[in-house]
Amino acid sequence: MDKQERIVEHDAGARAVRRCEELGCDPYSDMRGGLYRPYLGTAHKAAAEALRGWMQGAGMSVRTDAAGTMIGRYEGSSANAPALMIGSHIDSVWNGGFYDGALGVMLGVECVAAFARRGLRLPFALEVVAFGDEEGSRFPLSMLGSRAMAGKAVGDVGQMRDRNGTTLQEAMQGVGLDVGRMGEARRRREDILAYLEAHIEQGPVLEHEDAPLAAVSAIAGIQRFYIRVQGQAGHAGTVPLHMRHDALTAACEMVLGIETLARAHTADFVATVGFAGRHWLRKPCRWRAPEQR
Ligand SMILES: [Zn+2]
Repeated sequence: MDKQERIVEHDAGARAVRRCEELGCDPYSDMRGGLYRPYLGTAHKAAAEALRGWMQGAGMSVRTDAAGTMIGRYEGSSANAPALMIGSHIDSVWNGGFYDGALGVMLGVECVAAFARRGLRLPFALEVVAFGDEEGSRFPLSMLGSRAMAGKAVGDVGQMRDRNGTTLQEAMQGVGLDVGRMGEARRRREDILAYLEAHIEQGPVLEHEDAPLAAVSAIAGIQRFYIRVQGQAGHAGTVPLHMRHDALTAACEMVLGIETLARAHTADFVATVGFAGRHWLRKPCRWRAPEQR
């Protein structure tokens, strides 16, 4: 790589970052003063259109699959060759970060642009994918785009509603999609060589280690439990300790017990209690002790 090429590639990184930031506000966000880009919302549609232009500018042909995932393709040296897929998601959680997901997509666009600039074709195609639903921030099911692409059954999801009462089917119809045809997003295994995703670290370790970059060796498999601890109210002055059934102290012991159990595993194992309070009392308790199952 000569000096001129290095300058161009430096610009590419800066452009990827700038585009993420550009997508962080109106019209690419559905909230004021922050980023919220839910699946199939107004901001998602606007962001997908901006991305379409950037993908085309980088030399890709662009389509949207049956689950609303945008796919840019740069053919290899022969047509219809299997593809190396690069990408991430362009939806966001409420008050999300500019680079969460978007960076992985923009870096994919820049990779393709670098090959296109040199007129280089690889023995395989390059595809940049931008999943529309990864976060599950609108409907109560996450990763619809990648599930559909992998051919995983998503069940009867058309009547799932967002907080405004809009069903998934209605939201999909709004962009010309049909929930009943989501299965058409499935890709054949032999058409995909590998999938590569650059993603921001959503934790403090890289900064703590003063490392710019790391390779992911495992994916976190999160399980959530809501636990109701039921005690018995008793007069603070007259019910003796040996007869008390204080829910709060039992809950405290559970919180510390969970931490102790997690520490006994490998360093990568995490268990934490994120919320404690009356709020959950109104929610159904999904967790059952083994003897109650
Ligand atoms: Zn993400």
